Amino acid sequence: MANYNPGRHFLQIPGPTNVPGRILQAMSMPTIDHRGPEFATIAREVLTGLKSVFRTQNPVVVFPSSGSGAWEAAFVNTLSSGDKVLAFGVGHFATLWKDVATNLGLGVEFVDTDWRRGIDPSIVEAKLIDDKDHAIRAVLAIHNETSTGTVSDIAKIRRAIDRAGHPTLLFVDAISSLGCIDLHHDDWGIDVTISCSQKGLMLPPGLGFNAISEKALKASKNADLPKSYWDWSPMLSLNEGGYFPYTPATNLLFGLREALLMLQEEGLDNALARHSRLAEATRRAVRAWGLEIVCIEPREYSNALTAIYMPEHRGADDFRRLVLERYSVSLGSGLGKLTDAIFRIGHLGDFNEAMLAGTLSAIEMGLRVSNTPFSADGVRAALDYLVAETT
Ligand SMILES: *Cc1c(COP(=O)(O)O)cnc(C)c1O
Repeated sequence: MANYNPGRHFLQIPGPTNVPGRILQAMSMPTIDHRGPEFATIAREVLTGLKSVFRTQNPVVVFPSSGSGAWEAAFVNTLSSGDKVLAFGVGHFATLWKDVATNLGLGVEFVDTDWRRGIDPSIVEAKLIDDKDHAIRAVLAIHNETSTGTVSDIAKIRRAIDRAGHPTLLFVDAISSLGCIDLHHDDWGIDVTISCSQKGLMLPPGLGFNAISEKALKASKNADLPKSYWDWSPMLSLNEGGYFPYTPATNLLFGLREALLMLQEEGLDNALARHSRLAEATRRAVRAWGLEIVCIEPREYSNALTAIYMPEHRGADDFRRLVLERYSVSLGSGLGKLTDAIFRIGHLGDFNEAMLAGTLSAIEMGLRVSNTPFSADGVRAALDYLVAETT
C-alpha cells in the first residue's frame, strides 16, 4: 500500500483528463426526476449547446456510454449486414474501431500504416475509385489518433471522397479532438461525428455522442443491423421535448452543462489556440531533450497529446512508474505495438501553462533520476516559447 502523496496529482494521460472543480461541483447537485420539467430545461440547453462544439446545426445524440458505445451506435444506425467499411490502421484506436465493425458482421477494407502518420487522402480517393459497385458504405477516419498523437486532415479526406464521386458516408472519431483541435461537422460534410465526455470536454467518463448529418439520418431509415439501446430514432424524437427513451446519466449532464458554459466563456477558438500553444511548447521540450516524437509529419502533430519514444524504444513503462511514484504525475502508456516503447503526455482539456511546466519538470526530473541519455534543456525550451507567446 502506497503512503499518502501530498500535493496535487497530475492526470496527464490523454483521457480521462483533469476534471475542473466547477464541473465536479455541478455534478454534485441532487439527482432530479429525469421525466420532470426541470430536467427537460437542462437537457434541451445541453443538446443545443453541444451543437456549437461540433459546429453543426443538426442533432447530436447523447448516450450513457463510453466512446466505444458511440462507435457502435454509428454503425448499427446507418449500415446493414454485409455492408463494407474502409478503415485506416493509423494506430491502436483505429484498430479497435475496425474490430467493432468486424464484430458487427461488417466487411472491412483495412489499409495499414506504420502508426507514425495520419490518413493519406490520396489512398482514400484511390480505394473509392476502385470500388466501382459502391460496396463501401462508410469511410472511418480517426481525427486525432490518441495512441500516436497524429491528426488526419478531415477536410482533405472529404474532398478526396467528393473527387472520387463516391456516395459513401464519412464517419469521424473526434473522441480526443473535440474541444482541442478544430473540427467542423457540417462544413466538412461529416455524416457521423463520434465523441465522448472524458477528453477535451473535461468530464468524467460516461457520455457518448453521435452528431448526425441529414444523409446519415436518411441512411438510418434503411439500415438493418439489429439495434435497441443504440437506436437514434426514439432518442431523437424524445430529445425534442428534453427527454430520453431510458434513464440518462443525469448528473453527468449537469456536468456537461457546466463544461459547455466554460467553453463558451473561454471561447472555443481561444480553447483551440490554448491547446495549440501548449502542444508546441511540449514539442519544443521534447526536441530539446533530444527525444523522438512518434508523429513524423509536422503538419499532422496533435495538439491534444504528444507521444514520445524512450531512447532505444523500450523501458517506457518503468519510466512512467518512476514519474508517477516520485512526482505523482500520470503519463499515458504505449498501446498495442507501441507498448513499453513510448510514453504519452496528455495536454488537453482543463490545462494551462503552469500545469504544463509542472508536467514537463516531472518528466525532466524522471529522465535525470533514471539516467536516461538526454539533454536536460526541455523545460527551459518550453518556458522560453511560452513566455514569448504570452507577452
Ligand atoms: C479514448 C478514445 C477512444 C475510446 O473511448 P472509450 O471511452 O475508452 O470507449 C476511441 N477513440 C479515440 C481516438 C480515443 O482517444
